[in-house]
Amino acid sequence: MHEKDLEQLYEPVSSLYGVGPAMAKSLERLAGSRLLDLLFHIPTGVSFRREITSLKEARVGDIVTFKARVMKHQSVAGTRGGGRQPYRVYCCLDENMLSLVFFHGKSTYLKQQLPENQMAVISGKLEMYKGQWQITHPDHVGPLETLREWVGYSPSYPLTQTLTQKALQRILYAVFRKTPVLPEWLGAQTLKWHPQWAGWKDSILRVHTPKTEVDLLPNHPFRERLAYDELLANQIALQLVRAFNRRQGGEAKHAQSDLYERGLKAIPFELTGDQKVVLEEIRSDLAANHCMNRLLQGDVGSGKTIVAFLAALIPLENGFQTAIMAPTEILARQHYQTLRPFAESLGLTIEILTGKDKKSNKTKIYKASAAGEIQIIIGTHALIQEEMTFKNLGFVVIDEQHRFGVDQRLRLSQKGVHVDCLSMTATPIPRTLMLASYGDLDTSQLREKPAGRLPIQTSTVSSARLIEVVEGIKRTVSQGDKVYWVCPLVEESEKIDLAAAKSRYEFMEQHLPGQVGLIHGKLKPKEKEAVMKLFTQGILTVLVATTVIEVGVDVHEATVMVIEHAERFGLAQLHQLRGRVGRGTKQGHCILLYEAESSEASLSRLAIMRQTNDGFDIAEEDWKIRGGGELLGLKQSGLPNFKFVDWHLHQSLLREAVLEAERLVEEDPLLDATPKGRAAQNLLYLFDKEETVRYLKA
Ligand code: ADP
Ligand code: MG
Repeated sequence: MHEKDLEQLYEPVSSLYGVGPAMAKSLERLAGSRLLDLLFHIPTGVSFRREITSLKEARVGDIVTFKARVMKHQSVAGTRGGGRQPYRVYCCLDENMLSLVFFHGKSTYLKQQLPENQMAVISGKLEMYKGQWQITHPDHVGPLETLREWVGYSPSYPLTQTLTQKALQRILYAVFRKTPVLPEWLGAQTLKWHPQWAGWKDSILRVHTPKTEVDLLPNHPFRERLAYDELLANQIALQLVRAFNRRQGGEAKHAQSDLYERGLKAIPFELTGDQKVVLEEIRSDLAANHCMNRLLQGDVGSGKTIVAFLAALIPLENGFQTAIMAPTEILARQHYQTLRPFAESLGLTIEILTGKDKKSNKTKIYKASAAGEIQIIIGTHALIQEEMTFKNLGFVVIDEQHRFGVDQRLRLSQKGVHVDCLSMTATPIPRTLMLASYGDLDTSQLREKPAGRLPIQTSTVSSARLIEVVEGIKRTVSQGDKVYWVCPLVEESEKIDLAAAKSRYEFMEQHLPGQVGLIHGKLKPKEKEAVMKLFTQGILTVLVATTVIEVGVDVHEATVMVIEHAERFGLAQLHQLRGRVGRGTKQGHCILLYEAESSEASLSRLAIMRQTNDGFDIAEEDWKIRGGGELLGLKQSGLPNFKFVDWHLHQSLLREAVLEAERLVEEDPLLDATPKGRAAQNLLYLFDKEETVRYLKA
């Protein structure tokens, strides 16, 4: 269990004194609903507040703090004539008069804060009004002992419109008071390596009280410590899950008959070297007496499906059922069509279940699956519905795994006992992120393309040469090929994006009347499907699309991919898009159209696309160039969001955190046997990972 004191940070922001419903709403929008979220909302700038003892030293616009004598309160002099008079408090500072101006000021409160004939500390921005000094809504008024708090550097935070720096800061001070000192969870080794690091509480408070711009840098020791904590929490959670899965045990599944061998023979091509390697990895996972949890990464077209199918043969010959889940109906059907001939030639029963199926059909499948009459079931989310049960589920394949939540994946595998799980993704993930996000999984890669697959030829063309491109497309289409034309999606305005796609569609229609389709996110699934169908059937030859083109969709005759404003895409995303063409035997082409005024940097980025067809290399390059959260394709891939980590600066911290987490979890697998283990529970709690421990203990 975490420290009791820590629970205060989990209270809602509305629990703070002086935070009403409206303020709570703004805070929630800004950072989150808990005090902890505010504590983790860190400043991005600093400003300097100067102490003055006389107004002679001051200029209009200065942000200053000073001691002054409160002379007189002048409350609202009625609302005669409709003009609302502000509440004024006259003060004297070194023989000069200055007034504090409050609109809607409440006199009882202000009289209490600024008693007449007494000295007070005032801080705010100096203004001049009708020749008189004044401060409108001072950032601070209070007794003399508050002077030091209001002199020097103060942080500035990203804000929403309804909040002020002052209000947020006041609230944060209250949060700081509720922030406990926690026992150190970092190991002696780590602390020795980083002698400049302070404890957790000091670090987070210091990040909130920068003295100079330098204090705000992500490689400042205070920030670095917090980044390390974040990485460590994440790694501990991943390793706990991993260790737990290992302990869980599982059923060792060895080849029993010649089914696997017959499966290999049923396939009309030779497996690539990578496919063979991956199958060996999976076979040894299956033979071990713990559950498999493997992520298979491989570009679109690298042959993941057949690997999954062959792998499934081993559980199948051990009498287990296999479920293959895909994120869309189209993909599920495609898998079904591909695999059915193989399955049937091996004497295996195979079925498909999607949300679209008729009720009677669904019921039939539920029954057959529960009775163990279906050996391989392919489907969409429909597979995780309650009604769907298995007699003996032993192997689960999750295609495009990032399109599913963790809970959805679990729900499927929990329909059996000791289920081995193979997840697959076509999103190449940079090594660093792999380690940071999927440390609980074993990973395999398919880098080698199936033989006979021609690498896609990529060219970069200035949009000034649009007409030449269109002429080229007309020639392509006349040879029976098909073309995708992608217009970028700029998140801020879907409307504008759509307008761009629509006008490109109209433009293409003029050149190829009756042959052009338009597909975008605003279409209903039915409409999308209808357009896709016309495209597959060859009635449409050009498909203009925003980036919604279904993941993994296979249209073999599609040979050309045009991407407009290619400079706006991440490389990983361009690579994904270009993987949609050249999936048959014909040469695929990708034309990256860029704006003539694109920067040198973005052009050299696009050049990488010409140079390599390897998704993993591209992901690494993209990562190097753009780093972190900006990786477009990854944003949607469900990878966790890190608050303190800067991926360019903190790579070596990640490696340290992996080792430290390994050490800790090995020594104290439930984090309750050693002081460090117990301290680490606080760390997990802070980063919302405590659930993991609770789940593992249950
Ligand atoms: P992915 O799921 O990785 O996108 P698929 O498994 O759908 O790729 O494979 C794409 C195509 O390549 C399929 O038509 C498949 O039959 C074929 N394929 C797979 N492996 C090989 C191979 N070793 N040699 C030739 N073709 C292959
Ligand atoms: Mg696939």
